[in-house]
Amino acid sequence: MNIPLIGFGTYDIPRKNTERCVRQAIELGYRLIDTAQMYNNEAETGVAVRECGIKREELFVQTKLSSPCRTVQAAVDSFHQSFDRMKLDYIDLMLIHWPQGGETETWKALEQIQRVGLVKHIGVSNFYPGKWGELCQSVNVKPCLNQIECNVFYQQRPMREYMAKADCMVQAWQPLGEGARKIFSNETIREIGSAHRKTAAQVALRFLVQQGISVIPRSQNPEHMKENIDILDFVLTEDEMNKIRALDTGHSQYGWPSDAWRY
Ligand code: NAD
Repeated sequence: MNIPLIGFGTYDIPRKNTERCVRQAIELGYRLIDTAQMYNNEAETGVAVRECGIKREELFVQTKLSSPCRTVQAAVDSFHQSFDRMKLDYIDLMLIHWPQGGETETWKALEQIQRVGLVKHIGVSNFYPGKWGELCQSVNVKPCLNQIECNVFYQQRPMREYMAKADCMVQAWQPLGEGARKIFSNETIREIGSAHRKTAAQVALRFLVQQGISVIPRSQNPEHMKENIDILDFVLTEDEMNKIRALDTGHSQYGWPSDAWRY
């Protein structure tokens, strides 16, 4: 699977701004766009992808099923709602947004849809070992990617090791922690940034990308969009990586870990 390491997230971008933001992101060089049924902006994301002037095969578009589907047919129908809204010939990656019951049926539906070519790849989000293990017992195609909360303050080391053993790519949602925990003014991150003439946001994203984790930061501000993709021209030293590793609290900012591991 050839998935770009840096993508553009669209959570909480209002419908009226989505087409502009996604087009701007693509103009600035983003090639991966992440949306979801739940973000209520799949249609506008589809317009931007169709009309941006970049060849479809150069873009990687992913969305997520969020309605709980108890039957294969319900999941097929739910997929087609996204597909009809986005009006693309195919979707690059379809994820189950989170485990909420009916995962096996939903997965069967995604496998069927992948076989007919409407979706190229299938994966999951917020699946922790319990649910991951359950799902993988009965699949024909293993999920190729797991999108999970991951940032400098919640580095998800055990989970990343688990996914590496399962040969599954990790993609970080909220790679900037949604700006919480004073990430942009953190002294360690800022100091490391000054040594490279980079901002705290760039260091926080670089830290993940340098470990092979895909990131999908969101912004409606073109300066920030530009900043967030401009992270491939510097390398954090091992000493800098270790300083950032030491910022890990081991906790989700939503208090999710214990629940999540029980999923
Ligand atoms: P994020 O970590 O990308 O942070 C976004 C916040 O940081 C916004 O307030 C933005 O204005 C600000 N920001 C962005 N770049 C900045 C910069 N350079 N300098 C200063 N401020 C900056 O949070 P997010 O959008 O919630 O997460 C990223 C994406 O992950 C989402 O848009 C969505 O696509 C996905 N996501 C998925 C799930 C899931 O359950 N699968 C959950 C949350 C988010």
